[in-house]
Amino acid sequence: MNIHEYQAKALLRSYGAPVSDGRAVLNPEDAKTAAGELDGPLWVVKAQIHAGGRGKGSFKEASAGEKGGVRLTKSVEEAAEEARKMLGRTLVTNQTGDAGKQVNRIYIEDGAGIDRELYLALLIDRVTSRVSFVCSTEGGMDIEEVAHSTPDKILSFSVDPATGYQPFHGRRIAFSLGLEGAQVKQCVKLMGILYKAFLEKDMEMLEINPLIVTDKGELKLLDAKLGFDGNAMYRQPDIAELRDETEEDPKELEASKYDLNYIALDGEIGCMVNGAGLAMATMDIIKLYGAEPANFLDVGGGATTEKVTEAFKIITSDPNVKGILVNIFGGIMRCDVIAEGVVAAVKEVGLKVPLVVRLEGTNVDQGKEIINTSGLNVIAADNLSDGAEKIVKAVKG
Ligand code: GDP
Ligand code: MN
Repeated sequence: MNIHEYQAKALLRSYGAPVSDGRAVLNPEDAKTAAGELDGPLWVVKAQIHAGGRGKGSFKEASAGEKGGVRLTKSVEEAAEEARKMLGRTLVTNQTGDAGKQVNRIYIEDGAGIDRELYLALLIDRVTSRVSFVCSTEGGMDIEEVAHSTPDKILSFSVDPATGYQPFHGRRIAFSLGLEGAQVKQCVKLMGILYKAFLEKDMEMLEINPLIVTDKGELKLLDAKLGFDGNAMYRQPDIAELRDETEEDPKELEASKYDLNYIALDGEIGCMVNGAGLAMATMDIIKLYGAEPANFLDVGGGATTEKVTEAFKIITSDPNVKGILVNIFGGIMRCDVIAEGVVAAVKEVGLKVPLVVRLEGTNVDQGKEIINTSGLNVIAADNLSDGAEKIVKAVKG
């Protein structure tokens, strides 16, 4: 689960991390009031969307030479004016995809004077199963390019959970970032704060890009991107409250209400499968036969007819879906329940694309009977590869 920059900064500030004063606003009138409460002489006006790359992004229908989603302004009036220009429009960055994201909220921040822009991240390293620090002197807006062409400029190491964070970790980062004097001590303290916040709040990712050395020689978090483990939200109620549903894929949001494991993808074949392993295998085999899955969907072991109906509705609501493959191995799940769900859903929402159903396992005969007598135009398949081949053929001809 992701949160906005302004929320991330408030959270890290509560742990004692150095961030500038700022205000989040939803309309231009409040933007002016908010800017007036900040000292100046620089006001930074920042679009709040769940994606990075805002500075280098561009708005749809931008006027010639118009700036991206991070704008430096020199007066309260100018700050309010830039906020007004961005609100309600769609910002496209290298992380949003072509559709972009609508800007509903603006963060106005007391601008900092920058001496150096550094990069810092904490993340869970799946290989070592540990929390890792990643840092680089090349912070700012081109870290992906740095990682690609000069990976030696990035330092990365993991922390032994038995010792936890130690000052030597912080010193290692400070020296690799070329910090000096009091900055080293500040860095050691700051890294400890970030590590503590990372663990206590069940984060998956914490990215500060840039971490800056200000013109007064102090460290400051100029940007903050936090991602949390969705499965830990039951024990992080204050974080769960920060969820902004308008930033999420509406299909994924709907699926989460019914406890379906659903991830939207870019392909053309909608998949309804039970069990994560079988869902992965189904996606693989669709690719093997030359098409792309439109989603990952695991309806779970004990799905009800209602759940299956909702899952089917979510798949058919996706305009990219040109065909649907239902692939069920009934172990705990009963094939007749799946069949009833499919029939109920088709009756409710209609079926405009080819549907291939492969059922196997518990109550398979009842399941097939329900499908066959439903009057629906369903293509039956006998096994996994047969199902994949048939749906790809039905879609691609
Ligand atoms: P991102 O493009 O979405 O990563 O947004 P950032 O918050 O990282 O801002 C992009 C860039 O804007 C930074 O790398 C800075 O160069 C610049 N910027 C942001 N805030 C300030 C500020 O307070 N002062 C100055 N001088 N530049 C800033
Ligand atoms: Mn940034």
